[in-house]
Amino acid sequence: MHSAVPDFLITAYNWTVGPLRSANVRVLKARGLLPVSILFYHRVANSFFNGWTISHEGFTRQIDWLQANFDLVSLSEAQRRIASGFNNRPTVAITFDDGYAENSEYALPLLLERSIPFTYFVTVRNVVDQRPFTHDLNAGRPLPVDSLETVRALAAIGVDIGCHTMTHPDLATLDETQLQREISAAGKELEDHIGRSVPHFAFPFGLQQNLTRRAFEICREHGYAAVCSAYGGMNAIGQEVFHLQRIHGDPSEARVRHWLSYSQRQLSVPRFRYQD
Ligand SMILES: [Zn+2]
Repeated sequence: MHSAVPDFLITAYNWTVGPLRSANVRVLKARGLLPVSILFYHRVANSFFNGWTISHEGFTRQIDWLQANFDLVSLSEAQRRIASGFNNRPTVAITFDDGYAENSEYALPLLLERSIPFTYFVTVRNVVDQRPFTHDLNAGRPLPVDSLETVRALAAIGVDIGCHTMTHPDLATLDETQLQREISAAGKELEDHIGRSVPHFAFPFGLQQNLTRRAFEICREHGYAAVCSAYGGMNAIGQEVFHLQRIHGDPSEARVRHWLSYSQRQLSVPRFRYQD
């Protein structure tokens, strides 16, 4: 998923093709077809850096840049703009996956202070049982998970809490009973815990190979308003809005800037087909 291209080359590339992109953006704006981007972050902390951890300073720089260049909107507003059939505002929605405890030390207070909306997807059993994520255990580094009290407190102040399954499995490997539990029972349990509706769902891992038609159907049957993948791509205006594509909130600011610059590549990432 991550290229090995050094940051300075990506930055140089952005400079070189910048004017073409700008012309492209002007055309899309004029037609009201400026696509909507949705970012997913995982963990903001100043320790144990990995491909999905970003430092306090790095996160602040990205948020500063995003605030200066985009409308930062909720997932529901992003969905509304896509569905409306006309968007001439550069638009980004911010989400987090998993539920890492350290986010509450810096990232979430920063967003709340600046009144920037975000959706916070949590894995229910890891939070409730205070169990480290399997992907962290496998990496030999059990990182702290959000407590249910934290998630409740976020919900109480109006943060959109989303469902990221019960146990963070690859949904493409599960049978019907397991899918029902990971998608529907997880959403219901989360709603019971926080006393609010949970309208959004995010696929663990979220690449094309982790998505299945049956999983999408169960999400629909459950009543989720939107389902998020994580394999990149912008959301074209006027397309169906049940499936929202997301772009990685990478620790590299150069990459994030590159991915959000309306390049032809990001505009043409294929949609997962869950219906005919
Ligand atoms: Zn995840």
